[in-house]
Amino acid sequence: MRIVIVGGVAAGMSAAARARRLDESAEIIVLERGEHVSFATCGLPYYVGGEIDDASSLLVQTPESLRAALALDVRTRHEVTDIDPAARTVTVHSDRGVETIAYDALVLAPGAVAVRPPIPGLDSPRVHTLRTVADALALRAAVTSSAQLAGAESANHSTRRAVVLGAGFIGLEAAEALARRGVQVSLVELADHVLPPMDEEIAFWVTEELDRLGITVHTGVGAREIISDAAQDTVVLTDGTRVPADLVVLSVGARPDTAFVERAGIRCENGAIVTDEHGRTSVPGVWAAGDAVVSTDAVTGQRRPVALAGPANRAGRLVADDILRPGSARPLPRPLGTAIVRVGRLTAAMTGANRAALTAAGIPFHTIHLHPDQHAGYFPGASSIHLLVHMRDDGVLLGAQAVGADGVDKRIDVLATAIRAGMTAPDLIDLDLAYAPPYGQAKDPVNLAGMVAANVLDGTLRLWYAQDLPAVRETALLLDVRSRREYRAGHLPGSLNIPHTELRDRLDEVRQAAAGRPVRVLCASGVRSALAHRILAQAGFDSASLSGGLLTLRAVHRDGAGDAPEPSRPSAA
Ligand SMILES: Cc1cc2nc3c(=O)[nH]c(=O)nc-3n(C[C@H](O)[C@H](O)[C@H](O)COP(=O)(O)OP(=O)(O)OC[C@H]3O[C@@H](n4cnc5c(N)ncnc54)[C@H](O)[C@@H]3O)c2cc1C
Repeated sequence: MRIVIVGGVAAGMSAAARARRLDESAEIIVLERGEHVSFATCGLPYYVGGEIDDASSLLVQTPESLRAALALDVRTRHEVTDIDPAARTVTVHSDRGVETIAYDALVLAPGAVAVRPPIPGLDSPRVHTLRTVADALALRAAVTSSAQLAGAESANHSTRRAVVLGAGFIGLEAAEALARRGVQVSLVELADHVLPPMDEEIAFWVTEELDRLGITVHTGVGAREIISDAAQDTVVLTDGTRVPADLVVLSVGARPDTAFVERAGIRCENGAIVTDEHGRTSVPGVWAAGDAVVSTDAVTGQRRPVALAGPANRAGRLVADDILRPGSARPLPRPLGTAIVRVGRLTAAMTGANRAALTAAGIPFHTIHLHPDQHAGYFPGASSIHLLVHMRDDGVLLGAQAVGADGVDKRIDVLATAIRAGMTAPDLIDLDLAYAPPYGQAKDPVNLAGMVAANVLDGTLRLWYAQDLPAVRETALLLDVRSRREYRAGHLPGSLNIPHTELRDRLDEVRQAAAGRPVRVLCASGVRSALAHRILAQAGFDSASLSGGLLTLRAVHRDGAGDAPEPSRPSAA
């Protein structure tokens, strides 16, 4: 059997390697348009920033190593331009000319290319993308002095200012990489907050960290035009701001690289290849996997490509299974979109659906916010994890996001596993997670999320949300149950301060101040206000506790939070 694979990186090379492990007799040809195969796309930003020093370490395999280890016929600089499904052949352009290669099974793994919006001036030579090894080499060369490339590097004196268009995962990584090089970076994002796949109250902490890194963030605006002159470019934003730039990184998304697939009559949706649960396309003998394929979101059912390395690698492997072990191959799971990014000292990660996706899908949900320490508070190095969890009315987990200096990856991976397993939020209470003081808490943040969720679902805890603040101000008594000292340091105007430890003895004061209105309780992180809520609810008040406390409120309202206190570590909460 001859298996021809188009695209030799994540999905394509996984398919090739698995096919060889299953069948020693198969002829396996990998056709790759670029100069390299099996390269570490995800490592490119770290090479630009200098944390990965040697470009050769990005090349995980070479055609030679793949031939030696797996007897693969890997042909770089070979571009597939056409497919003839009836004849079962592909047309290939290379330095040697044009040739036709026949296949028994064809795997399409062409990935995606950078979206290039119609912005005047985008063809400036100072505009870069970051998708290939060549892109990373060019970007690194632009920010390091060529004389120093062989040894220690420093910022190239000709590159002092950069604009990164797009503050998604790759845009953030690019911005940080450039900032590490001493370049003054402006980050421009059309959405109203950085990291649009995450909710605003998680993205807030990332914005703060970008600020600390000296990266200027422009949100809610795009690039209207790029004006080039001999000395530098100027990026004109849609609000009229003009940002000078010695280089521009374009990172506003990717689109499936599938023109040759659509031409062959293989079914695509918005340019992405449609497959069944085994990666089979609409044409017999042709499979597809990776960034170029439409996925169905595991939580919302939304159909879209999911551009992540894990799903691409696993899909490639499963496609090879279906080609060589039809009937027994496991189906491709629907992706959860679990993703993670480091920004300075912080890690931000997510799994499952965000608020916007749930709303768009019409799925009713509850959200809980927590700010627990990542490990025992008494052990040195304790720091907060800002965690939010979305769940259905029946408790089924829908999504989770977290940001913090430590321990975020572990919690999101546990929650991703829980969502994949179809668990409910209260089921999280029962997870036996590893604990010793340097690593976690006897009640791990994930267990705590389960406990808060269970309280919300059974009515023990009633929440109000930072997003509701304007309406709450109009209709309810705001009761701040922090200490007097904390209250004096900053509070919401018009709120009444009764420390939670005094509340039982001062219920009459609350009753008088509320004058029949509901009582909306708040504290720093939501812990003390939950205690206060229980006291109030049992005393017959219409009460609710602010989800995530002032930490979350500040993240939602930023400067619009009146003189609400600056967030601080919630260990006192
Ligand atoms: C800078 C960057 C950082 C990233 N970081 C992360 C991360 O940290 N975590 C994560 O999960 N994901 C990350 N990703 C996403 C991840 O790299 C992709 O999801 C994954 O590589 C997709 O695999 P793929 O095989 O579908 O496509 P690709 O890896 O893009 O490979 C497709 C290959 O097909 C070739 N090709 C295309 N058309 C043809 C043709 N007609 N003929 C021959 N060859 C062709 C292309 O040249 C390309 O080499 C990152 C992506 C980028 C760009």
